[in-house]
Amino acid sequence: MTLLPLKLKGMPAPEQDPRKQKYNTDKLVKRLRRQVGKAVMDYGMISDGDRIMVCLSGGKDSYAMLELLLSLKRSAPVDFELVAVNLDQKQPGFPADVLPRYLDGLGIEWHVIEKDTYSVVQRIVPEGKTTCGLCSRLRRGTLYEFARKHGMTRIALGHHLDDIVETFFLNLFHGATLKAMPPKLKSDCGRHIVIRPLAYCRERDLSQLAGIRQYPIIPCNLCGSQPRLERQAIKQMLAEWERIQPGRTLNTFRALSNISPSQLCDPGLFDFAGLEVDSANAIGTETGA
Ligand code: SF4
Repeated sequence: MTLLPLKLKGMPAPEQDPRKQKYNTDKLVKRLRRQVGKAVMDYGMISDGDRIMVCLSGGKDSYAMLELLLSLKRSAPVDFELVAVNLDQKQPGFPADVLPRYLDGLGIEWHVIEKDTYSVVQRIVPEGKTTCGLCSRLRRGTLYEFARKHGMTRIALGHHLDDIVETFFLNLFHGATLKAMPPKLKSDCGRHIVIRPLAYCRERDLSQLAGIRQYPIIPCNLCGSQPRLERQAIKQMLAEWERIQPGRTLNTFRALSNISPSQLCDPGLFDFAGLEVDSANAIGTETGA
């Protein structure tokens, strides 16, 4: 009989064999690389000569996106440029030296844009109201403007599969609309193409990679905003569903690319009014009628 190692509460987990650790890391990175490559291919995200602005927030997903895109670039059949860009929104305590130090070591072009959107948000949004809507709009505007001025042909964001599914349910429950976050989209102004190369990656894998690599994470709550309660509730709902029936999140994501407009109810998407029987089967054309 084989005895499994007992993990006692409060005791550190036993050290993993370094060879096994390396094997597991390689496997994780390969999986993520494969998923990024497939998403890039499936949605035609990158073309030869693209100059891609990789938006780096300092969170785990954006670090992972940069690492995976750099790895993809080394073996991709097309040639493209990666430019890392961070927006310093002047939130109190923002550690301005962390990203430059990290990016200097990568040997790629990078920029930190300094724009005090924090004060604008604090001034405009009434006390107690959520600040994220205005803050995101200001951030998006600043990044788009920078992309235009610096000749970026793509803007890469670090949203992953779980973000996409959560957004789908947020829109469903709170916006009464069937929409999520597409892996590739044209900005409303029509001047930018936004891509989400992590669209097929799972958050748990990205968290694991971040832990292994020890990315210098910049906390996302420097602005003092409370976590968005509706998104938190959706996260909890999905976690509970996964506990009861693993695979629901992935199946929801798969459903987003397997749509039957004629089986839904949107007359703008499917011509229900124009539905008629095939003329060959129309009443009165049957033999003997
Ligand atoms: S959490 Fe803070 S920094 Fe992030 S979008 Fe909301 S207000 Fe902006």
